[in-house]
Amino acid sequence: MRQPPGPPQACKPAIDQSDDRPHEECGVFGVWTPHDPAGREVAKLTYYGLYALQHRGQEAAGIAVSDGTNLLVFKDIGLVAQVFDEPTLASLRGHIAIGHNRYSTTGGSNWENAQPTFRSTKAGTGLALAHNGNLVNTAELARRAASEGVPGISGVSSDSDLITSLLASRPDQPVELAAVELFAQLQGAFSLVFCDEHTLYAARDGHGVHPLVLGRLERGWVVASETAALDIVGASFVREVEPGEMLAIDADGLRSHRFAAPTPAGCLFQYGYLRRPDATICGGGVYATRAEIGRRLAREHPVEADLVIPVPESGTPAAVGYAEASGIPYGHGLVKNSYVGRTFIQPSQTIRQLGIRLKLNPLRDVIRGKRLVVVDDTIVRGNVQRALVRMLREAGALEVHVRISSPPVKWPCFYGIDFATRAELIAGSLDIDGVRASIGADSLGHVSLDNLIAASEQPANRLCRACFDGVYPIPLPADALLGKHLLEGVDTNAEPLEHAIGVLQNP
Ligand code: SF4
Repeated sequence: MRQPPGPPQACKPAIDQSDDRPHEECGVFGVWTPHDPAGREVAKLTYYGLYALQHRGQEAAGIAVSDGTNLLVFKDIGLVAQVFDEPTLASLRGHIAIGHNRYSTTGGSNWENAQPTFRSTKAGTGLALAHNGNLVNTAELARRAASEGVPGISGVSSDSDLITSLLASRPDQPVELAAVELFAQLQGAFSLVFCDEHTLYAARDGHGVHPLVLGRLERGWVVASETAALDIVGASFVREVEPGEMLAIDADGLRSHRFAAPTPAGCLFQYGYLRRPDATICGGGVYATRAEIGRRLAREHPVEADLVIPVPESGTPAAVGYAEASGIPYGHGLVKNSYVGRTFIQPSQTIRQLGIRLKLNPLRDVIRGKRLVVVDDTIVRGNVQRALVRMLREAGALEVHVRISSPPVKWPCFYGIDFATRAELIAGSLDIDGVRASIGADSLGHVSLDNLIAASEQPANRLCRACFDGVYPIPLPADALLGKHLLEGVDTNAEPLEHAIGVLQNP
């Protein structure tokens, strides 16, 4: 394995400093093709796959490639296009590759926590792994591993690194069998792709909280977080990796193992936010679902207005649906500065004070003198919407009616979406009118949980909706409530730190 030296911390990109939106977990991608001595394509396919998944994580990117003999990892802080250039990709030759876009959910935002993670197995082979999700029994697993003398466990810095270490430490078992046994012991949300020199693996937790799909190339297989990553590399969608299923793909074909009984609890938040609008979930198109959420929102919270505008871009499909159902004209009143905030240039305090103006610019000629319905996807702390309402009024809007295509977010997510803590969630302490007053809107309306579930066309009992109703489908061990920096400085021999738990109150 070869890895570049870790860059200085100053290289950490200045992402979304003024944003209080929930951040989108991580993106994973894997590809297996028949062995090709000249094989250069898998790294490029993975590059494009990660490109299509860039919205899921913008802190770091990495690719691991196997040529059947060596497993090579290249990763760094930054966007996919910043981390990889043509010479780097050309040097990553092989027939198996996995890739990862990172947004941190456990472990800090440093180079060491970029993925794929890598460990040498006791058999002398390599193992690289990419993880989307968040385990809730990380501390218990780490303590058990420490007591069993698993090598290198004190240096583990994230739940993903811990899974890799545990997999690599099994001396008497092939990786395939070790993985099936280990994954049955993991609690929480995990969509994984991993590989050794010969085999590509993919696994999804028994609740299927986060997505993972299987695609077919003319000569090979692809696994990815979203169908958009299949489309970009010309792979056809085969099916979702099932909750509790692990796939192994090598020269002998594709094998499916079950390590947990499927008890589906897919993330409901994916339908209104997080995924690309061109993705599909459980066979349904995300764009169509979001438009239906907008139609339901219009029927739940009608208002007299002159124009419906989206907060681009994730608010767009719901705004289209709202306009359609309400009969109010649809238009664009905000232009997004897509690339601001995704730069290595650290903004100065003066620049940062521009806040939302760095990201959105109002179209004054469109807005002036109008009663606006502004459709956004979610409210977390309320800072974005407060600044937005002020900006629209300054641009000449007569009235600003805010409509949100998700229910109020009242509870933190422990399964891999980086919400604020409960204390920071504005809907955790204020009722709807309190939030309306806080953001300065003339009116505020959220789609109801029932309508969001109905628009998803999934049975309510097959969905996780914990951030909306506080009912967590995967039990939360006490350690999990400590939050995302669990492994930073945790004493793996210590008793659970119950005294530090106060984040979550029972609903
Ligand atoms: S708590 Fe919310 S964001 Fe987290 S997995 Fe459940 S529905 Fe998704």
